Amino acid sequence: MPERSTKRKKAGASVSPEKIKAILDLLDEHYPDAGCSLKFVNPLQLLISTILSAQCTDDRVNQVTPGLFRKYPSARHFAEAPLVELETEIRSTGFYRNKARNIKECCRVLHEQYEGEVPADLDTLVALPGIGRKTANVILGNAFGIPGIVVDTHVGRVSIRLGLTAEKDPERIERDLMGFIPREHWVKFSHQLILHGRRICQARKPKTHLCPLEPHCDYAAALRS
Ligand code: SF4
Repeated sequence: MPERSTKRKKAGASVSPEKIKAILDLLDEHYPDAGCSLKFVNPLQLLISTILSAQCTDDRVNQVTPGLFRKYPSARHFAEAPLVELETEIRSTGFYRNKARNIKECCRVLHEQYEGEVPADLDTLVALPGIGRKTANVILGNAFGIPGIVVDTHVGRVSIRLGLTAEKDPERIERDLMGFIPREHWVKFSHQLILHGRRICQARKPKTHLCPLEPHCDYAAALRS
């Protein structure tokens, strides 16, 4: 498997600034408008939407949230919502029992400890119930303009194939990418790689023949050799 060819290599050891620049330029050319597709008007709404987006499309989440945010306009409203009622509201996003429990618990802490506001700080966010590093970086980057790299399944897979990391653990991948990618690109780079992973560099059958990043890709190079 081509991905094995990167395993013994020290993470990112061979990544040149020229390669990074070429990849960033191509991503900007092919995904100029990549951004957050979840609809929100404040950090709390993005937090709720991001929890709902696990194992669910952003389109589906965006169908559910307008009514949800009308019914529960604040962290206190979510915290005080009857669990079964909240589960019913979000049922179509899947895994609704876990999601409803996480939303209620997270909003209870926000209401009791942060006056209903979402904290703009990574360590504080990841300490909230149901909020992992990926969700925290989505919130920081898109609601607060604080740069962070979101490592979801697409970003992880594409980064490994491109040879930007040899790690499997999302936090280590994030650390590697933060070492190579200029800070001002972090938020957009994440959105661009997610789009690229969905459209071209799919898990089972990457469309390498259609891929603009092919000249810079370790996976493609391994296939050619
Ligand atoms: S060349 Fe293929 S494996 Fe490499 S990034 Fe493009 S689609 Fe993915």
